[in-house]
Amino acid sequence: MEEEEEEEQVATEPPKIHRLDESVVNRIAAGEVIQRPVSAVKELVENSLDAHSSSINVVVKDGGLKLIQVSDDGHGIRYEDLPILCQRHTTSKLSSFEDLQSIKSMGFRGEALASMTYVAHVTVTTITKGQLHGYRVSYKDGVMENEPKACAAVKGTQIMIENLFYNMSARRKNLQNSADDYSKIVDLLSRFAIHHTSVSFSCRKHGAGRADVSSVATISRIDAIRSVYGVSVARSLMKVEEALDNDPSSSVFQMDGFISNSEYVAKKITMVLFINDRLVDCTALKRALEIVYAATLPKAAKPFIYMSIVLPPEHVDVNVHPTKREVSLLNQEVIIEKIQSVVESRLRSSNETQIFQEQTVEPPSSSQMISSKDSNRNPTPSGSKSQKVPVNKMVRTDSSDPAGRLHIYLHAESRGHLEKNTSLTAVRSSVRQRRNPKETADLSSIQELIADIDSNCHSGMLDIVRHCTYIGMADDVFALLQHDTHLYLANIVSLSKELMYQQVLRRFAHFNAIQLSNPAPLKELIVLALKEGDTDPESTENDELNEKIAEMNSELLKQKADLLEEYFSIHIDKDGNLSRLPVILDQYTPDMDHVPEFVLCLGNDVDWEEEKKCFQVISAALGNFYAMHPPMLPNPSGDGLQFYQKRKLFRNNEGSLSCNTGADDMMTEDEIEHELVAEAETAWAQREWSIQHVLFPSMRLFFKPPNSMATNGTFVRVASLEKLYRIFERC
Ligand code: ADP
Ligand code: MG
Repeated sequence: MEEEEEEEQVATEPPKIHRLDESVVNRIAAGEVIQRPVSAVKELVENSLDAHSSSINVVVKDGGLKLIQVSDDGHGIRYEDLPILCQRHTTSKLSSFEDLQSIKSMGFRGEALASMTYVAHVTVTTITKGQLHGYRVSYKDGVMENEPKACAAVKGTQIMIENLFYNMSARRKNLQNSADDYSKIVDLLSRFAIHHTSVSFSCRKHGAGRADVSSVATISRIDAIRSVYGVSVARSLMKVEEALDNDPSSSVFQMDGFISNSEYVAKKITMVLFINDRLVDCTALKRALEIVYAATLPKAAKPFIYMSIVLPPEHVDVNVHPTKREVSLLNQEVIIEKIQSVVESRLRSSNETQIFQEQTVEPPSSSQMISSKDSNRNPTPSGSKSQKVPVNKMVRTDSSDPAGRLHIYLHAESRGHLEKNTSLTAVRSSVRQRRNPKETADLSSIQELIADIDSNCHSGMLDIVRHCTYIGMADDVFALLQHDTHLYLANIVSLSKELMYQQVLRRFAHFNAIQLSNPAPLKELIVLALKEGDTDPESTENDELNEKIAEMNSELLKQKADLLEEYFSIHIDKDGNLSRLPVILDQYTPDMDHVPEFVLCLGNDVDWEEEKKCFQVISAALGNFYAMHPPMLPNPSGDGLQFYQKRKLFRNNEGSLSCNTGADDMMTEDEIEHELVAEAETAWAQREWSIQHVLFPSMRLFFKPPNSMATNGTFVRVASLEKLYRIFERC
């Protein structure tokens, strides 16, 4: 009665604090350690590994809810230890907290078995060396249910978990409804099997004749991968290795692994990561590698990666996650960066050996390089830039338009069509290559140009570029960056120009292509460019001369079409139309307003006789074309809006002066203005998006800033605030 009265008062009184029942505490804790059947399997297999087993066999019934049975041939459990085996915090692996610093075993908390007894029925059968028989005993809520019974046993330990979550109905229902954990268990065992190659693993469903994972102990990692993941996966893997044992920054580590090449195409990334022999997740590393793949092998952007990293144990904190699924590393950023660059150069060098390797041309998918977090933060125009550009925009040469503006030809065509096209090109190229091997082998000039970039790289600026935080655009050309405690203004146009140039050389002959929806006639483009250069674009004085120059230049480029196509993926059809351009950075398409200038430059400036010079000038011309120039339409969000208002005013005046311009006309003029403002807004927003999400991430990965940039105003230090916090999130 009294209690009831107390309850009625609770609205105003603070609720009473009381100690939870031990059994409730344990069950709550157990639910954290054993989140689902696969987590129980992981704990059990890790215990078997800790017991130095050479064979581990798993049997699963009903996705693990009915039965999980793990048998090993390890050292077994002493009879005297059986009474406390399943109590919380009983372990043979750790004594003092300091031991954690050098722990080699997977387990250390003495929690796993105990947890299982709070959420399932646990039976242990075990035999230790030299014993004639083993013991079997069952546990519930941390304690033995009966005295251990002598029984026949083979070497090692068998642990049976029955009716998992029998006392957690919500969890059990959830799991029953969700896809069965069996595939997760198979995946887990596959991962263990390719790392612990000296142990043989098997995993089967209860009652099934065939095992779904079955590996035999082997000395070769690649053999293990082949037997677990199949021949086709193993065939497309390359070895990677890196050892930094004496690094002054104390990021000492060893890494070795296998990573997929351009032939491995999958829907999802598979990343099997072991850090100090622990199977863990490291989202930051995974994402870093995904970025490298998206940038170097766009078609094979979802790789298979097996990687083992070994660090001094004191550099790894293993005690940061309830299921030990994550660890935290000292110098994580440095390590990730090093690994990223090893993987990148491995991918590049493999690419180089396959000069005419076939790559699908497809519109770069927007999700490749942005995390969902990023895209949420930026609902601005273009997750998917190329798709959003109107399909049927045509060349506009209306003189009322801002001088020389060209409308975008760009349009991502249906994938099927493009694929057909490129495989054709690739076939043609490889035929050509076979006929004339010299043609492709003799590209030392490209190697020289790349070497020039490397040797001319400014190390101080490299550090800034790699580690800076992009804050935002300060004006149309300069971006504000933070590096350590310094603020810099960086000229986006020169940076992007140089980056594009460098990327052209690196992707040389391996470009994906951007298809133009409307092939653009070279001759007209050149005329347009020449007119732009004229002092008075309205005059017709030079027209004839311009026509002639344009004619000659476009003929010349038609003759060079093979070279342009083969090495730069610049396609010129037989009628002299430009119809395809290279992808220099994934997810980035250039501003087509700069096409005329580019074509003129190709026609005028390239010395086609000397190979190195020729490649260099074409690459630089592409660099200039693809650079992130401010859009030609003034930025409507700043002073630029005047530009649009002025035009409106002008139109209105004109309208009222000439009475025969009807009201209808005025309406249309008005609409065009809005359209133009909207277009300008889109162009500016897209550019800003590209700067943040394409330019900066790519610069971090690939850019080698030339020495000249240190002094030519590309980077200007504007503030040095020793105690500035990094309040701006890294992008
Ligand atoms: P932890 O692994 O953190 O020590 P567990 O609850 O997983 O805690 O296991 C408790 C103890 O039981 C281990 O320290 C180990 O001595 C023993 N043990 C568990 N599984 C096995 C096994 N398969 N073979 C031998 N000993 C085992
Ligand atoms: Mg354990």
